[in-house]
Amino acid sequence: MSLTFRGGIHLPENKNTDQCTITRPREPAYIRVPMSQHIGLACIPVVKPGEVVSKGQLIGENNNGLSACIHAGIAGKVLRIESAINQNGRRDDYIVIENDYSGAVSPDIKPCEKKISELSSDEIIDTVRRAGIVGMGGATFPTHAKIKSAIGKAQKLIINCAECEPYLTANHRLIAENAKDIIYGAKILLKACGVTTGYIAIEDNKPDAIADLKKLLKGDSLLSVKVLKTKYPQGDERQLIYAFEHKELPAGKLPSDLGYVVFNAETCFAVYRAFSTGMPVTERVVTVDGDCIVNPGNVIVPIGTPFSDIINFCGGFSKRPDRIISGGPMMGIAQWDENAPVTKGTAGILALSKDMYHREIPNCIHCGRCVGVCPMHLMPCYFAAYSKINDYESCDAFGVKSCVECGCCTYVCPGNIPIIQYIRIAKSKLTQKK
Ligand code: SF4
Ligand code: SF4
Repeated sequence: MSLTFRGGIHLPENKNTDQCTITRPREPAYIRVPMSQHIGLACIPVVKPGEVVSKGQLIGENNNGLSACIHAGIAGKVLRIESAINQNGRRDDYIVIENDYSGAVSPDIKPCEKKISELSSDEIIDTVRRAGIVGMGGATFPTHAKIKSAIGKAQKLIINCAECEPYLTANHRLIAENAKDIIYGAKILLKACGVTTGYIAIEDNKPDAIADLKKLLKGDSLLSVKVLKTKYPQGDERQLIYAFEHKELPAGKLPSDLGYVVFNAETCFAVYRAFSTGMPVTERVVTVDGDCIVNPGNVIVPIGTPFSDIINFCGGFSKRPDRIISGGPMMGIAQWDENAPVTKGTAGILALSKDMYHREIPNCIHCGRCVGVCPMHLMPCYFAAYSKINDYESCDAFGVKSCVECGCCTYVCPGNIPIIQYIRIAKSKLTQKK
């Protein structure tokens, strides 16, 4: 039987690209690499304008607190370091690199010569930290910090392959094309966390990937496959743990408080790459889709590649999009700049003609649907009502900080109230107050 959680919604999946093999466009002429691509402190540039950099070279780091190193995804010259507003609306430094198409790779890039069994947790954590690996499902939590927080607390590890957002298939394709490497990365993470039981959790709408993984893991003593029911937001860590454990993770607690540690499939692939080749996170797989894209597909591109380059590679627009979204339609962020760069957290670029978010702001009809679908058992209608009148303290009292921003409430609201936007405003106002 497939595992699942309470609440949530069954969305039209639109997984149009799930059979589109990952392709690699020609490298971009330039990349713009933001210094804040993770939860935690932004990196500080360690290169200067005019400097020539090679692929995989460290270009940004911050050793003070939670952070993840940033590397060049192409070889070329640093044109400038500019300050601009990033996709999350915050000001950030960007390193702009012009491609010299030499393809030169940093001399620091060397594979790890030890076997997994010979590696200590500290060695793995250090390699993962230096490789700038973050949660590539979108959360972008630095992986080295997650491993540290799990040691001594987690007894079970989950590789999250749920990819529950409509349209996105990047993880699905990565698993279909690189299952062995993802398993290898997962085993390094098991070793690092000191855990001997691991599960690859995958939704039942990916039967090809499930069959491949089951074949590869037949008789494996460390890892096995667990099939999840296809439902949104099954990929959220809290819902994933509920599906396994039938226990809720209280607000403010981490999965390790219930004995679990969760990593995304592309994060495992990044770990595999860091150990097998020495290459840090310099690129990622992105699903490009939406009814305005001529040739939807999955591409692998250097971090910092402008969205416009990728859209052009996919044939451009068939009609003018109403909205370009970075990520999925439920949790993604609408973009105002077609030249926005791909970051470590960019799982998708969607160009949609229909406005999925509602423009008018009508009134609540008190139907209670938003309450019924909330996987966190919150009362979203109250968040909208209080946030609308700037009463953020009441939002706090009703538990707005526990909201995982899945957008289910907004999706089902017959009153077309943009609840998620009110929630984001309330959360950001409460954070500013701290
Ligand atoms: S309140 Fe938050 S967690 Fe609940 S459905 Fe809405 S967005 Fe999702
Ligand atoms: S779903 Fe919309 S209309 Fe219904 S109670 Fe929630 S906010 Fe009100």
